[in-house]
Amino acid sequence: MPKIGVLALQGAFIEHVHRLREIGAEAVEIRLPEDLDGVEALIIPGGESTTIGRLIDWYELREPITQMAADCKPVWGTCAGMILLATDVDQTTRAQHQPLLELMDITVKRNAFGTQLDSFEADLEMPAISDEPMPTVFIRAPIVSRTGPDVEVLGTLSDGKIIAVRQNNLVATAFHPELTGDRRLHSWFVDLVVSSAREPAPAE
Ligand code: GLN
Repeated sequence: MPKIGVLALQGAFIEHVHRLREIGAEAVEIRLPEDLDGVEALIIPGGESTTIGRLIDWYELREPITQMAADCKPVWGTCAGMILLATDVDQTTRAQHQPLLELMDITVKRNAFGTQLDSFEADLEMPAISDEPMPTVFIRAPIVSRTGPDVEVLGTLSDGKIIAVRQNNLVATAFHPELTGDRRLHSWFVDLVVSSAREPAPAE
């Protein structure tokens, strides 16, 4: 089973660690660049994207995470993690000097459903992941307001809002799959990690 890092600077990281261990994957908490040694993929959890972005720079994790993505290692951002992966944040919702990793060709709108009180649960159809709808939790969640040409939409809400996307080895979901008992998305990600490790990275 692959060794998967979970960025553990702030936010809902421990739940991702638990979900990964429940399905037999090796999960390591990432706080420093050396923690990434031997790690085959990374999950960037939900939390507060401005805080996580600043801590990424503070702990000098930007360069090694960017390198992982360039090496075609899978990186999955959930909620705040989705915001950090985006190349751009809707200007009306971007914090001042908000740092982003800018790895996925998407624009996101932060807090697209309102305040904490407007958090909700939804059963979502994501045919690329599973035949049956999946329970999801949205907490001050973003939406994807623009997708680049290489971005595949994995899921939308019933009103068409885009809440799950993939661009090759990069995956972003607006909700928190780790907070439900459902492990299908984590299993799907582990399968992606295993198949990516088998395929050689494209030549430079
Ligand atoms: N609203 C948060 C942000 O913009 C994200 C919320 C979450 O990760 N649950 O950073």
